[in-house]
Amino acid sequence: MEKIEHIGIAVRSLEQANSVYEKLMGIAPYKSEAVESEGVVTSFFRSGPNKIELLEASNPDSPIAKFIEKRGEGIHHIAFSVTDIRSEMARLREAGFTLLNTEPKFGADNKLVCFVHPRDTTGVLIELCQERE
Ligand code: ZN
Repeated sequence: MEKIEHIGIAVRSLEQANSVYEKLMGIAPYKSEAVESEGVVTSFFRSGPNKIELLEASNPDSPIAKFIEKRGEGIHHIAFSVTDIRSEMARLREAGFTLLNTEPKFGADNKLVCFVHPRDTTGVLIELCQERE
């Protein structure tokens, strides 16, 4: 694994959260994107090498809706960038981690992603992401 690629934050209202993070970071989001398959709408802020992803549920069955129902708004996942997601997935599977998807899938911000179950990672959902060509 390489650096932390971004930190994902679950929010009730993207519009409200955007204005909070615009004030906090002094910049506007560089991207807003819906990921239908995940039931989320996202926006991304970049400050130097650091990125924040805000996630709002786009339907009541979205994992983000469930997360907020259970735990309220807050940090939802930490994403690590990897150069070869398939080999990282194999390595983690071998090491006993539960992967939430068997194949890499298309995530936001032009990435291939895979999630690791938080029960194996001290309660934190981990995302692997590889830049798509
Ligand atoms: Zn993410």
